[in-house]
Amino acid sequence: MNDALLQNCKLCPVECGANRLTGVGACGVSGLKIAKYYAHPFEEPCISFEKGSGTIFFCGCNLRCAFCQNYEVSRAERGKAITPRELADIFKTLEDTGVENISLVTPSHVIPYIAEAFALYRPNIPIVYNTGGYDKVETLKMLDEYIDIYLPDIKFYSSALSSRYLGKPDYFDVASEAIAFMSQKPLKMTENGKMLSGLIVRHLVMPLCVSDSKAVLKWFARKLPKHAYLSLMSQYTPFGKIENFPELSRPITAREYETVVKTAFDLGITNLFLQERKSSGADYIPKWDF
Ligand code: SF4
Repeated sequence: MNDALLQNCKLCPVECGANRLTGVGACGVSGLKIAKYYAHPFEEPCISFEKGSGTIFFCGCNLRCAFCQNYEVSRAERGKAITPRELADIFKTLEDTGVENISLVTPSHVIPYIAEAFALYRPNIPIVYNTGGYDKVETLKMLDEYIDIYLPDIKFYSSALSSRYLGKPDYFDVASEAIAFMSQKPLKMTENGKMLSGLIVRHLVMPLCVSDSKAVLKWFARKLPKHAYLSLMSQYTPFGKIENFPELSRPITAREYETVVKTAFDLGITNLFLQERKSSGADYIPKWDF
């Protein structure tokens, strides 16, 4: 591990400069901390496939989404500290259960530790990088050789919305640059539809944000290569600290989701995953172990 990177941490676009050898950064952690690892059945079908995705939930986050559905985990209010050696052992344990891949959830702020774990043990199944999208390209490059599938969010196009809900006015600029880098990963699928390599961009449709979703989809259609997939998510459920955002106190309507889906079709986006509207965010939150 390069201690210099951690003494004045600028690994993510927050660039808070924390000394993570002695304390925590704005992401809420110094080193590795996890809330759970297990075979997760609810990702896109080409990711969960038959036996589930070997998902590892990292605590802490470099985004501050008001509506976060994993609030205790993203704010690192819970979790278990582990070493890179222990993370490497978790890779092996999950792989031995027969999961389809290893999925790293919210890894942006702990990339050097994850790279150290891969140097100790590299699984023989695909590795998924599942991120909120607020990533620095130069930091992504530290892990890219180990990553097969990128699974980033693109949350908002508008700077006003990302500022209001994430506290990040530059969110789209940062995330779109990161996703452009991720889109270089070639698409590889098995004949029966399991993803081995590629890019799936997730977009969660939010209440009163249909216009912003349309702008996101236009960017997706114009800027990303044809092999990129789009996953349009309908599961928004009021969670987190949203007292000051009354507009977020309801799920999205059928009309809002259908309008966004129609936009995707109108733009000719065919590599598309849709979600049943009856899906609720609560169904996707696992019981935390640590
Ligand atoms: S990774 Fe954490 S400590 Fe480092 S710059 Fe980002 S928020 Fe700060």
